[in-house]
Amino acid sequence: MTITTGSVVLFDYTLTDNDKEIIDSSREEGALAYLHGEGQIVKGLEKAMEGRKAGDSFKISVSPEEGYGLPDPSKIAVVTADQIEGGEELEEGMQLEASNEEGEQIVVVSKIEGDRITLDGNHPLAGMTLHFDVTIREVRTASAEEIEHGHVHGPGGHHH
Ligand code: ZN
Repeated sequence: MTITTGSVVLFDYTLTDNDKEIIDSSREEGALAYLHGEGQIVKGLEKAMEGRKAGDSFKISVSPEEGYGLPDPSKIAVVTADQIEGGEELEEGMQLEASNEEGEQIVVVSKIEGDRITLDGNHPLAGMTLHFDVTIREVRTASAEEIEHGHVHGPGGHHH
């Protein structure tokens, strides 16, 4: 069968950036399962999956617009060390939990210059072109229960 809305797809992937550095891969955690048509994987990749079948391999480059979006400048803030609890101990690349009117959010310490600290709440892959190398392992029809739950059960999906 071919992939269409309501298909469960199990696939292996390697995700690389423009410099061919590996960002993520299913090699360690095993093949990933998702419910097609639900926006569970990035838009550009989901579009490329449509109509394919088990055993297919393909490569696709996904633009930021169809990936994790473009960085939103309003999610970047510059603060001083004394405005943050433990601000003196921060290092570039650390992740913090910040809370604002919209609730809890993970922000990354993207830059430290003197006592000026830049916090970035964008997705770490925002603004990046994503290069996927995909092999489809299995395609099947989702069960009524999976459709109802909105996620996949079993290998590569939820266990409950
Ligand atoms: Zn479930």
